[in-house]
Amino acid sequence: MTILAEKPAPLSALAALEGHLIDGAIVPAAASFPVLNPATGKVIGQAARGNAGDVAAAVAAARRAQTGWAALAARERGRLVAACATRLLEEKKSVARLLAMETGKAIRTESRPEVVTAADILSFYGGLGSELKGETLPFRPDLLSVTTREPLGVVGAILPWNVPLVLMMLKIAPALVAGNSVVVKSAEEAPFATLEAGRLMAELLPPGVINIVSGFGEDCGAALVAHPHVAKITFTGSQPVGEIIYGAAAARIIPVTLELGGKSPMIVMADADLDHAIAGAVAGMRFTRQGQSCTAASRIYVHADVYDRFVAGLEQAVRGLKMGDPLDEATDIGTVISPEQKERIDAYIAMGLQTPGARAIECGMLPDDPSLDPALFALPILFTGLPEDSPLMREEIFGPVAAITSWTDYEAVIAAANDSDFGLAASIWTNDLSAALDATRRINAGYVQVNQNLTIQPNLSYGGFGKSGLGKEASLEAMLEHFTRKKTIVFAAA
Ligand code: ADP
Repeated sequence: MTILAEKPAPLSALAALEGHLIDGAIVPAAASFPVLNPATGKVIGQAARGNAGDVAAAVAAARRAQTGWAALAARERGRLVAACATRLLEEKKSVARLLAMETGKAIRTESRPEVVTAADILSFYGGLGSELKGETLPFRPDLLSVTTREPLGVVGAILPWNVPLVLMMLKIAPALVAGNSVVVKSAEEAPFATLEAGRLMAELLPPGVINIVSGFGEDCGAALVAHPHVAKITFTGSQPVGEIIYGAAAARIIPVTLELGGKSPMIVMADADLDHAIAGAVAGMRFTRQGQSCTAASRIYVHADVYDRFVAGLEQAVRGLKMGDPLDEATDIGTVISPEQKERIDAYIAMGLQTPGARAIECGMLPDDPSLDPALFALPILFTGLPEDSPLMREEIFGPVAAITSWTDYEAVIAAANDSDFGLAASIWTNDLSAALDATRRINAGYVQVNQNLTIQPNLSYGGFGKSGLGKEASLEAMLEHFTRKKTIVFAAA
C-alpha cells in the first residue's frame, strides 16, 4: 500500500472551483461535467460546462476591463503579473496537488515543477513591460514619424490538458503585460488547476482582466473563436482542431497563434557522450509525463557504432523509473490522461507489434497498489526496427512510446529526421562542433538543441515549422509580434 505523502485536496476546495471565473469571481454554471482522477478512476469534482452564453459573459467582462487595464503604465501591468507569480508560488502545494489529481502526472517529477515553471513565466513577462517599444522612422526631416505598439483587445486562449498551467501562462502572461484582457478556455480533462491559478491571479488583477471558462471544444471553445469581440486566438492542441480554429479565425480575419504538436527527432552521433545522451533521451521523451509532450523526442536515431549500448542503457534507465500513485513523492511516472488516450496509444503499440522486423521493449512495472485503478497506467515502450513509413514514426502518439533506429549514413539520417509534416523540436548529440553546427542548420524544426533536450523555457522563442503550427511563444518576440498591433503615427508641426 502506497503511503500518500500529501493528502488529496479537500472536496470543499474543489467545490469552490465548480464554476467559471468571470469578472473576478467564480460564478456557478447551469451545467457541469465530472472530472476524473485518472489514477483512481474516481470523480474528483464537477467542472462548469460552458456554453456560448457563458463565453459571451466572460468576453463582455474582459471587454469592460480591457480599456482600464491598457491605460495602466506597462510596467505597472508587468508588476501586477509578476506579483501573480509570487501568489502562485505561495499556493504551489495545493495547485500542484490539483494538477496531479486531474492529470495523473506525478507530483514530484511533473506537477510541482509545472507550477514553478508557470510562475517563472509570469515573472519573466512581468519584467518586460517596458519593452513594449515602438520605433522612430527616418521618413522626412520635417516630420516626426513613429510606431507604437497597442494591445489587440480581448485575447482568447484555448488550452490542452498535457501541461495546462505552463501553456496557460505562456499565452496569458504576454497578452496581459501587453495590455490585453483574456478569456481562457481550459481543457475539459484538466480544468481545476488552471482555474485555481486564475482565481489566485484574479485576487491581484482588476476584475475581468482574466476570465476562465471550462467546457467542451464544440460548444465552449468554438464559441470563443466565433465571438465577434475576441481579437485573437492563441491555441495549443491537436492539428485537426488547429485547422478548425484557423479556418474560423480566417472567416473573422483575426490573428492566431497555433502550437500543434510534433514528431521530434533526436540524432545521436557515434562520438556522443553516451550516458549523457541516454539521460537526455529519458528527459527528452518526457517519460515521467508518459510521453504526453509536443516536443517528445519520439524518433531516436542512434549511430550503429553505439546503437546496442544506447538501447541497453536506455532500457535500463527507463526501467529505473517508478510508476505509481501520482500523489506519492516516490513516484516518477503517473498515468496517461484518459481512456481515449490510452486506447489511442494501445492502437499504435498493436500496430508496432504487428510490424515485421520490429521489436518492442517494455520497461518497468505496473503499480500493485490496490487503491489505484490500473487502467490508465501505461508501461513505457521502446520500439526498434520500425520502418520509416510506419505510423509510429510519422504520427504523434502522445504516449510513452519511443522508436529507436540505427544509422550509418549522415545524409540519410538528416533526410529521415526532416521527412516529417511536423517541425517542432530536434536534438543532436555529439562532441564534434562542426557536425553539430551542420546538423542544427539543416534540421527543419523551430527548437533545435545540441547535447540537451530542455522543455520550453522563458526567453527562448518556441514555435514549430510546418504542421507544428504558427507563431512563437515564451519570448519577448512572442509578446511583441503576437499580442500587439503596430500603429504608425506621423506628426507635422501644424
Ligand atoms: P487534445 O488532444 O489535447 O485533447 P484537442 O485539440 O482535442 O487536443 O483539444 C485542445 C483544446 O481545444 C481543448 O481545450 C478543447 O476543448 C479545444 N477544442 C476542441 N475542439 C474545438 C473547436 N472546434 N473549437 C475550439 N476549441 C476546441
